[in-house]
Amino acid sequence: MTTITESPAATSETSKYEAVIGLECHVQLATRSKMFCGCPTDYAGAAPNTHVCPICLGMPGVLPVINRTAVEYTLLTGLALNATIPDATKFDRKNYPYPDLVKGYQISQYDLPLVKGGFVEITVGADTRPVKLERVHLEEDTGKLTHVSGGSLVDFNRSGVPLMEMVSQPDLGTPAEARAYLRKLRAILRTLGVSGADMEKGQLRCDVNVSLRPVGASKLGTKVEVKNLNSFRSVQRALEYEIVRQAAALDAGQTIPQETRGWLEERGVTVSQRSKEEAHDYRYFPEPDLPPIFVSAEWLDHLREQLPELPDARRGRYMTSFGLGAADAEALSIDQWSARLFEDTVAAGADAKKAANWIQNDVGRLRGDTDGHTLDAQHLADLIRMVDNGEIGISAARQVLPRVHESGRSPQALVTELGLTQVSDSSELEAIVQQVIADNPTPVADYRSGKLSAINFLKGQVMKATRGKANPGVAEDLLKKSLE
Ligand SMILES: [Zn+2]
Repeated sequence: MTTITESPAATSETSKYEAVIGLECHVQLATRSKMFCGCPTDYAGAAPNTHVCPICLGMPGVLPVINRTAVEYTLLTGLALNATIPDATKFDRKNYPYPDLVKGYQISQYDLPLVKGGFVEITVGADTRPVKLERVHLEEDTGKLTHVSGGSLVDFNRSGVPLMEMVSQPDLGTPAEARAYLRKLRAILRTLGVSGADMEKGQLRCDVNVSLRPVGASKLGTKVEVKNLNSFRSVQRALEYEIVRQAAALDAGQTIPQETRGWLEERGVTVSQRSKEEAHDYRYFPEPDLPPIFVSAEWLDHLREQLPELPDARRGRYMTSFGLGAADAEALSIDQWSARLFEDTVAAGADAKKAANWIQNDVGRLRGDTDGHTLDAQHLADLIRMVDNGEIGISAARQVLPRVHESGRSPQALVTELGLTQVSDSSELEAIVQQVIADNPTPVADYRSGKLSAINFLKGQVMKATRGKANPGVAEDLLKKSLE
């Protein structure tokens, strides 16, 4: 698990100021077809412009049709965010010229979004608090430009894919909180099954805005928007960079211009791109080709029944039912893979706190970035029990785990095969203990003259002689008996 920490640079240089951070996330919904036409959305890896039709190519005279599943996914998200769902909503045209926007406008939502307000709870360190959202609305994705020498290429496979925009209030105070918020959003979206929410695949894209104000001031500073953030790490780094940059500018008596900046991952800096448009530049007006949507109480009740256990509820259950602390409960509940393995391992008989530790540390390291794994919960529970029983030492268990993971074989079989069974039998250890005492007269004399810590050195020698297989407790008892 990644530990969320404050950047020392961001806190030390900016102690005079406090940051006010908001996030705007675009989420591709995992529907089978596009937002306003029947084209399939599984365009990943497909040849350019093969998942298109006259509607998503913006041909004149065509009529869009609303994708009901996309609307329901957005409503489900609203319910999961504890938000208000207005009973009437509509689509609007957002007008702007850009080569990836083939119609010259994007169908979006302006003054009547599907979802208003709501919050998610974030946990940073031991503190849990709600972060408020402004709105969630539905729109269509644009095409994709590729710049080549001599010009640009455009692929409209992505054009018209349902896109949910989730706007937070400026309710975040640190880069670490922003990252925790993003992780929580991803966990909710994945738990609901409404999006893959994979940042690397462009399913979850995020812009941040950040301003500084003197500590204690109520008036907001001028906000700067940062785009092109493709990972959780880049969100955190870009914010840390921006906070330091803005603090230095304010200290030098400069004013911060309202602008959009881009994050350059390789250089670790933001650069100015353009001054920010005001909302009216888009000349929004109601989409004349689509009817308004009325959301009935019955429809919402039906959707509410489909809600699975959400990450915040799961975190609470891990704390009350399994006695985990807030940080452990958050780390496990926020990730479906870890949550499932944790619950299965406890069900297979493992101690909950030990299972939580193993999954977050040794198991987490094995997992890497892939979701594929062969670690069986019963095997993990067996391994934890074998350590508890003294059958194997902790270092042997750490050695065995990757092999269990790779081979899918039981830890019992692997421990026997690798000869890692812990030696707890006094008669087997006695000879080694006597040898260690004979070979180390100085530490033995130290111990006998009252320097009791010398026992640790001698115990280390027993562990070394048994290649880590001696039961450390039994070894210590035998040493003491022989020395006294
Ligand atoms: Zn289409």
